[in-house]
Amino acid sequence: MSRFQKLQHQTRDVIHRGFDRHIRLAVTGLSGAGKTALITGILEQLLYANETQQLPYFKVKQQQRLNGCRLHTSSNWQVSRFDYEGAIDCLTTDVPRWPQSTRDVSEIRVEIKYKPHRGLAGRVLDTRKLTLDLIDYPGEWLLDLPLLQLSYDEWSQQQQRLLKAELRHKLAESWLTKVQTAANAASEDKAEQQLRELASGYRTFLRQCREQKLLLLQPGRMVLPGELEGAPALEFFPWPLSQAIPDAWAKRLREKYRYYQQHVVTPFYQKYFKHFNRQVVLVDVLQALQNGEHHFAELQLAINELMKSFSYGNNSLLKRLMSPVIDKVALVATKADSIAPQDHQKLTELLRVMTQKQRQELQFDQIPHQVFSVAGIATSQIKKLSNGTTVLDGINENREFVRVGAPEVPNAIPTAADWQQGYIYPQFYPGFTAQNSPLPHIRLDQLLEYVLGDKLK
Ligand code: GDP
Repeated sequence: MSRFQKLQHQTRDVIHRGFDRHIRLAVTGLSGAGKTALITGILEQLLYANETQQLPYFKVKQQQRLNGCRLHTSSNWQVSRFDYEGAIDCLTTDVPRWPQSTRDVSEIRVEIKYKPHRGLAGRVLDTRKLTLDLIDYPGEWLLDLPLLQLSYDEWSQQQQRLLKAELRHKLAESWLTKVQTAANAASEDKAEQQLRELASGYRTFLRQCREQKLLLLQPGRMVLPGELEGAPALEFFPWPLSQAIPDAWAKRLREKYRYYQQHVVTPFYQKYFKHFNRQVVLVDVLQALQNGEHHFAELQLAINELMKSFSYGNNSLLKRLMSPVIDKVALVATKADSIAPQDHQKLTELLRVMTQKQRQELQFDQIPHQVFSVAGIATSQIKKLSNGTTVLDGINENREFVRVGAPEVPNAIPTAADWQQGYIYPQFYPGFTAQNSPLPHIRLDQLLEYVLGDKLK
């Protein structure tokens, strides 16, 4: 494509957005929340929409107004394409497996051709096109927003307080000793190398925190660096000791931190986030229940922290960074195929309770939002036995058929007694073949109707 054609392409995008014919729908959530599976599932349902009876709540399809959907080249050449074909290959090869999880930003474009429902457009035009960009990005990056309001020293104090918590302290112990020893031998000529090594140690500590299911981890790019893997921009860490920072290090640490704020966090909001129209936030509530009280509380905090990026009301920083355009938010509990259908409502209710505070902020800012329970790719089959019990049939890690009794889901924050009893959910594996397209899902049609329905009238 020539430069002129590219420009034409981009101009058309801007015009279409103005005419309501272009949506940038972003999908986020912490690692493992199910972003890759959900986007793959959405694409499956859209691309095969006219060959399936699986979308009863997607009105454009139900009203037989959908001509079809197809993948299209994106005009954003700086971002990798979401690997839909690779994901389908993984899910449907001889030995099916879950696709590689999200590690960076990627996007994919779908054109939806439909007949307008009513009004002038219905009379004048036979068909219309809606361009849908689906953008996948790690939720961890949104946890960096507060960094923009803190100086290096303020951030370090905050992290020092966090490091006092028992589990974090234990995991940080050997790194803290290294910082102490190196600080005693800090020198101007060795500073770069010393800081690089300590930053690498801090990153190892953050990874161990992640393995222990801790979620409030900063800087987010040290957990999921994306294209910054190995970049000097990540060679810093919060000052963890009560003694002053050695002179040889202080200026460098503060400079790297400022660089991270200005060249990593701010550009993410200005280059990508600013252009999202609608946002889907995925939450793996079931995994958090299974991991226990501490992890569940940490997830609740992290989700509420992450959602601060979507309500601008009292967030002057976001207002300054960009003019807000997100006009709808869907909060989604994923992997609903691990529980019985009669418990889906409870799962939705639990996510509603977990996000109450930030939902009130969205309400205040008049940003419509709704809570769902879905499975991007449904791997289980539900059976009701003659004795009345509900069971889930699926495939386990060793590719064996398994049948499990449908596990319980609380519809409110569990009590101490509930936590003692604990929760356990099956982890099914995909067992599809290429003939199974579109792959099964749970309630993606309701989610699609919510995030796209009003633009397909
Ligand atoms: P991401 O890190 O947010 O991209 O998460 P993924 O989409 O890679 O999902 C992480 C893991 O969760 C997968 O490898 C699966 O084990 C599981 N998973 C994701 N979506 C589903 C789903 O719809 N149903 C089930 N049963 N498991 C899922």
